[in-house]
Amino acid sequence: MNSDRDGAADRPGASPDGLPPLRDVIRTHELAAKKSLGQNFILDLNLTRRIARAAGPLDGRTVVEVGPGPGGLTRALLIEGAAHVVAVERDDRCLPALAEISARYPGRLLVHPGDALEADWATLIARARAGRLGTGPSGTGPAQAKGQDKAVIVANLPYSVATMLLIGWLETEPWPPWFDRMVLMFQKEVAERIVAVPGTKAYGRLAVIAQWRASARIVLSLKPEAFTPPPKVASAVVELVPKPTGNPPASVKVLGKVTAAAFGQRRKMLRVSLKQLVPNPEELLRAANISPEQRAEQLTVADFARLAYIFERWPSAR
Ligand code: SAM
Repeated sequence: MNSDRDGAADRPGASPDGLPPLRDVIRTHELAAKKSLGQNFILDLNLTRRIARAAGPLDGRTVVEVGPGPGGLTRALLIEGAAHVVAVERDDRCLPALAEISARYPGRLLVHPGDALEADWATLIARARAGRLGTGPSGTGPAQAKGQDKAVIVANLPYSVATMLLIGWLETEPWPPWFDRMVLMFQKEVAERIVAVPGTKAYGRLAVIAQWRASARIVLSLKPEAFTPPPKVASAVVELVPKPTGNPPASVKVLGKVTAAAFGQRRKMLRVSLKQLVPNPEELLRAANISPEQRAEQLTVADFARLAYIFERWPSAR
């Protein structure tokens, strides 16, 4: 599986997979970047390989990728040994370029044209593993993904839907989910919100939900010039490793509701901001062992989980 990894192709300057440089791929297939689709491509295969390697050893693994575009990260994942890559791309212009990668790695790349927000990951993974790499109906169901190793999610995300995709993965039920690691590129400001700690400006709903469900850390920071075209902002790669459900076992949906109320009015004391949840927040907060005078950003993730757990069982909860 990893035969391409060490020996570069013979031609000087050639890519280790023998495929054309990404700049040529973009030119040949006329893939001028579209702003509306968040297209900021990474053309440096050394960099995409670093991102792929941040996902841990990929030999024999199934990788889910959102937005392969011309295929820079996809190629890196395959070079690093992924057994299967399931890539969902919304821009049909990229499909011929991706078909060339599929031909180079027979049976290992499933490209699904469409919107990643609507993807049925379990079915796509089952289809890729069963070797049915066309785009027609699979005839397989999520059950067929059972009994297999978990997948890894690796993506240079389109920034307009990045947070929505992350929340969707974090809200997966049942938990622990079908993936055992996510390595995802975000705008740096979003990456900082994911890993933020209490008492900081960046700490909010995203940090609480992400850190309730996963261990999160920034593994790589990138300047705008790493992308073509360069975006206006810096970017960072975040690694998220799912954690077992904590104690008490708060529901992630309810955690979402409680954090929305608390951080919706983050400057107010919780006894005020939580009025939209219960008529008398002071009692609820005391039951959760939280001072009603505190503000949202002072609570730890464990405090929020306790609060959500008690709120879900609270008689006058709205
Ligand atoms: N993976 C490539 C790379 O690293 O160079 C491209 C990354 S680019 C930041 C984001 C990619 O996501 C683009 O190819 C874009 O067409 C695609 N995309 C945008 N919205 C999408 C969506 N809702 N579902 C799937 N792909 C999407």
